[in-house]
This record gives sequence, C-alpha cells and structure tokens, in this order.
Amino acid sequence: MIQTPAEFSQWHSPSPDDLGADHLTFLQRLGGPAWITLTGKDRQRSRAIITLLHGNEPSGLKAVYQLLKSGIQPATNLDIFVASVDAALLPPLFSHRYLPGEEDFNRCFNLPAHTPQRQLAQRLIQQLRQLGPEAIVDTHNTSGHSLPFAVSTRDDILSRQLAQMFTRRLVVIDQALGTLIEQRDGHCPIVTIEFGGFADPQADILAEQSLHAFSTRDQLFDRTPDPMQILQHPVRLELEPGHQLHYASTGQFDADITLFNTIDQLNFAKIQPGTSLGWLGKRGLQGLRVRSATGKDLTSAYFVEHNGLLTTCHTMTLFMATTDPFVAAQDCLLYFTPESL
Ligand SMILES: [Zn+2]
Repeated sequence: MIQTPAEFSQWHSPSPDDLGADHLTFLQRLGGPAWITLTGKDRQRSRAIITLLHGNEPSGLKAVYQLLKSGIQPATNLDIFVASVDAALLPPLFSHRYLPGEEDFNRCFNLPAHTPQRQLAQRLIQQLRQLGPEAIVDTHNTSGHSLPFAVSTRDDILSRQLAQMFTRRLVVIDQALGTLIEQRDGHCPIVTIEFGGFADPQADILAEQSLHAFSTRDQLFDRTPDPMQILQHPVRLELEPGHQLHYASTGQFDADITLFNTIDQLNFAKIQPGTSLGWLGKRGLQGLRVRSATGKDLTSAYFVEHNGLLTTCHTMTLFMATTDPFVAAQDCLLYFTPESL
C-alpha cells in the first residue's frame, strides 16, 4: 500500500523547461512531497506557499505550476511546498483528499508524530521555522460550490492585510483541529485560502492571479485593511458515527438525514430561523452534533425537527457546506456562525 513518505525532496530554482508540459506532468516529476525555492529580488526576506495539503484540491498547484513556468523572479525568496503528491497521483487522479488508510494531512500538525505522515508535517513546520517567512499562504478548494474565503486563527491587522490579497471574507477559527494554520509562531501571518470549488475554473483563475501578486508585490503589509466580512467563532455541524447521510432533492426514507443536494448554494448566505436544510429520518436530530468549545452538545440550540424537516431555529451564516457524503462524514457537514447566542 502506498504511504506518504516522512521526507520531502528539495528543488532549488527549477528551470521552466524542466517542469513538464502541464501541472500533471509537473506533479509526476516531483513524485512525492517537495520543497521548491526561488531566489527573490530581495534575498533577505521570504514568503511561503503551501499547496496540495489535500490531494483533490488542485487550484493552488495549477497556479504554482504557472508561476514557476513563467520564470518570474519573485519580490522576495519564495518557498513552495507541494504536499500530498502521492494522494493526488493515486488513480483516479486528483480524487483523493488523502491516501486510503491515512489521516487527513491537514489534521496532522499536532502531536504525536508517530506516523510518517505526521513526521512529514513536523518537518514542514521545522522548515518554516528555520526559514522565518514574512507570510505563509496555504491553498485549498472547497468540496462544494463556494465563494472564495480566507481562514485564520487570529483576527489581526497582518492577517487581514494578507487575506485581502485573495478575498474579502475571513473566517476566524478557534477549534484545535491539528491544521497547519494553528502552528503560527511569532508574528508571521498564515492564512488558508479556499479559492472556491475544486472543479470551478474561477477558483483556478483567482489562484493564479492572486498567488502571482503575492509572489511579486514588493510590500504585502503597507496598505490599510479594507472592510471585510468577518465570521468569528464558527461551529461545526457533524454527523454522529453510525448514522446514514444522503444528499438528494427527494426524501430517502432509509436515511437518518437527507440534506438538500443544493445546500452548498447557501454558503455565505445569511439564513433566517425556519429555513429547511433537508429531511430527518426516524431518529430525528440524533444523528447530528454541534459541539461547543467545551464539548457541550448545542444541536438543539440551533436546529429543530419541524414536520420531518431539519430546520434552523437561529439566524446564521453557513459556509463550507459540502454535498460530498464522504467529506461530510469524515470532517463535517458544514460550518456556521450564529448571529447571537
Ligand atoms: Zn482542503
């Protein structure tokens, strides 16, 4: 069985001619996790792009390929880490978030480091600490349709200045999930950018244009932050293990929960109490879980069963709502920020 290696290869200043004809050939040439470095006009500073933590989220990889292929000299040294190369290359191509039998790589950045995948995560953190970049961007796509947005663990000026190069939406998380962005040391801002859906051409265009600007602009932090939509303290709607989840436009009566297969159209919309999100089976709300930071079950504070429908009882903004039952079961159905408690 294929395993993520604990080590990464290093490639300094690759020639555009050595990258291959497209992003797939480029990935095949990397053959595994890889650290690529370009020398900048200013060699005293550096910036980092982390891409493909999830093997089925290619917008950042395509953008990085274009950036390298164009032969640019970045404003500062530029370090690019291409992570889940093995998962992306496992057929069918770009279909695996992570390798079968392994963990979600973006849940591996906490301890213990007892698997090769977790050792690779620790090596990435060490490398970033040694490098001391002025900014780090971690590129993703959403599994459902979504407007682009940034995710940070802090809502401070540096994070906003960095995020606004990509989007005007910033989600500030406070859950400890083992993600890369929780590893922020010192003052270096680090944001995840969700460029949009994994198959959305607009997500590829945004990634290419914004990562080009991130790499070539002389100063990233000389502008006043623009007004942004800030979503604070999001909570996760999760599926209780042992429950059946479907996505459909008609009820599936053998399922515990059937979410509307258009639920991703609600991403970033403010929805009112009484909004239906799907149908509930015989076990009602039992298959759902909303946990507070202290582990308290808050499901009934936000959702009710109303004539067999899963219905909101609070004003909230949804995001990251997926229509992929695998992602929903492994991670969560959606995130939301309630208007007030
Ligand atoms: Zn992702």
